[in-house]
Amino acid sequence: MGIGMSKVVKFGGSSLASAEQFEKVGNIIRADEERRYVVPSAPGKRFKDDEKVTDMLYACYRLAEEGKDFKGKLGEIRARYREIIEGLGLSLSLEEEFRVIEQNFQDMAGSDYAASRGEYLNGIIMADYLGYEFIDAASVICFDESGAFDAEKTDGLLSLRLSACERAVVPGFYGAYPDGRVKTFSRGGSDVTGSIVAKAVKADVYENWTDVSGFLIADPRIIDQPEGIETITYRELRELSYMGASVLHEDAIFPVRQEGIPINIRNTNAPEDNGTWIVGSTCQKSKYVITGIAGKKGFCSINIEKDMMNSEIGFGRKILQAFEENGISFEHVPSGIDTMTVYVHQDEFMHKEQKVVAAIHRLCNPDVIDIESDLALIAVVGRGMKSTRGTAGRIFSALAHSNINVKMIDQGSSELNIIIGVANDDFEDAIKAVYDIFVITRL
Ligand code: ASP
Repeated sequence: MGIGMSKVVKFGGSSLASAEQFEKVGNIIRADEERRYVVPSAPGKRFKDDEKVTDMLYACYRLAEEGKDFKGKLGEIRARYREIIEGLGLSLSLEEEFRVIEQNFQDMAGSDYAASRGEYLNGIIMADYLGYEFIDAASVICFDESGAFDAEKTDGLLSLRLSACERAVVPGFYGAYPDGRVKTFSRGGSDVTGSIVAKAVKADVYENWTDVSGFLIADPRIIDQPEGIETITYRELRELSYMGASVLHEDAIFPVRQEGIPINIRNTNAPEDNGTWIVGSTCQKSKYVITGIAGKKGFCSINIEKDMMNSEIGFGRKILQAFEENGISFEHVPSGIDTMTVYVHQDEFMHKEQKVVAAIHRLCNPDVIDIESDLALIAVVGRGMKSTRGTAGRIFSALAHSNINVKMIDQGSSELNIIIGVANDDFEDAIKAVYDIFVITRL
């Protein structure tokens, strides 16, 4: 690794969708010489109804698999790259690369290979444009035979490779099996690559550039122009992303978290904005008691009652066993003296419902089983809650004022979040009520 500070910068698809976007990215990188390692996504949408190159590649490969003519589609993809190269005035040609890709599609190289070409080709352009070295991710990001990411092997290889390299471009989203076949992460996986690269070079910061100025306190589809989050901890973010807040791939947190490297979410279209800082721990208070609100619809609750349940050791385990036997994971399990309720995802549970009920009867012999569907769970998350009295009280009085019936309450003992269950129909109003009380009126 070269001496001095280094930043790993990952750019999302919309930041690299056209030559004009590439130029913005180039300016950002050149503005700070510590931005030495660049992880690009494939070109994303240029406008609302545009197609992402990754989706085009999947569709193109499907044609090849079906034995249909895929060359037209591949030509459209080639045109996307040509437009970028010409727009940037580069003399680079990808003709040979496309010849190889066409041949590999014909030879059924696999849909992971196909999808990965989006990042691969964009990486070649980016390296040429910046004058950085290009490193094929297939040579440094490793998966094992079973397809699991091999963190240790990757870290060894990547840190060695990058130590010899002052500035480099490593395309996101893919790596390779031990036999060299290409394997991708799940969709949005360039975020994960960025995190892995940041860990390998022990970067000072992992900057993740996208098309929004960081995380927002609540979903902008529900709250009109919600405020942004300046600083959030990994743990808070994990809670919020689990409940549906998306900006960053869920798995992108782990590699940098191990090294204590902060992530800075930034906006390519507004580089002057500070964005959101995601950190291990901080003494910075969040502006409000809560850091964020997120939630999901589509849960079911299965309420089980049995007299003297409390004195029967192992009852809870047996109930959960009924879910485990059917391959269903549970979300929350609030309980009373003679009752226990299990919250599950409706779409996972629905078609196995009667099997689970039968298993509960067989294993626990309950008095009553009640099932309720169309429920939503909302997570109110904030490191500030621990030191503030009355947070729960404020949430519930806000919900009561909005005429919302609370069906479930769950506060983890970490006091980092409070989970509330409401009817699907009350979901949006509940989020508005909580946002209003903490951020707008601050009563
Ligand atoms: N291009 C891939 C996708 O669309 C990966 C990424 O952008 O992170 O999912």
